[in-house]
Amino acid sequence: MAEARRRVGPKRARIGPIIDRLAAEHADAAIALKFSNPLELLVSVMLSAQTTDVNVNRVTQTLFEKYGRPEDYLAVPVEELERDIFATGFYRQKAKALRGTMQMLIEDHGGEVPTDFDALLRLPGVARKTANVVAAERGSPQGIVVDTHVRRLSQRLGLTREEDPVKIEHDLVKLVPRADWGRFPHLLIWHGRRVCEARRPACERCVVNDLCPSARYQTSV
Ligand code: SF4
Repeated sequence: MAEARRRVGPKRARIGPIIDRLAAEHADAAIALKFSNPLELLVSVMLSAQTTDVNVNRVTQTLFEKYGRPEDYLAVPVEELERDIFATGFYRQKAKALRGTMQMLIEDHGGEVPTDFDALLRLPGVARKTANVVAAERGSPQGIVVDTHVRRLSQRLGLTREEDPVKIEHDLVKLVPRADWGRFPHLLIWHGRRVCEARRPACERCVVNDLCPSARYQTSV
C-alpha cells in the first residue's frame, strides 16, 4: 500500500482531479431522497437512519400527504405516527424524535426548519449526520457527510486512514475545498454505487484509477 500511495502521489495533489473527474462522470449525482420543502427534507433524512433511501421514499410518498406541517405530527396519537413510519424501521425511536423535533420547531422556530447548523443539531433526535445533510441540501454545508460509501471510497482513494466517521470527516474537511463540501459526498456515493462497489470495485472502468492507491488495474485516462 505504501508503494501504491507513493505511485499516485500526495492526496492534496489528487483531490482536485478526483473531484473534477467524478463530477464529469456523475453529473446527476444528488441526494436520492424525495422531498419538496425543508420540512420534508428534514423528516426524510431523520427516517433514513438504518434504512435505504428507496425505502424512505416509498414511505414518505403517502406520509407527506398526511403530515404537511409540524403540528400534524403532534395531532395524531404517537401509535398512529409509529404505524405510518413503521416500514422505515426503528419506528419507535424515530416517532419520538420526530415529535420532539416538531415540538421544538413550533416553539423555537415559528414552525420553520432552521438553516443554522447548530440550531439543527439541537433538534431532538437530529444527529450530526442529519444536520450535515439538511444544511448541505439547503446550500450551507458545515461539514462533509460520511456514510458507508463515503467511508469506503475515502479509504480506498487514500484520503484517510481513519475508521471512525467523525475522524474521516475531520480528514476530509481539511482536504476538500469548502465549495465542494456539499457535492463531494454525493460524488463518492454515486461512484460507490455504480463503480466502486463494496465487494467488486470495477477498477478497470474507473475514471480515477490512476489516482487511486487501491486500483487493481491501471489504464490511461
Ligand atoms: S480504482 Fe478501484 S478501488 Fe479505486 S476508486 Fe476506482 S473502483 Fe474504487
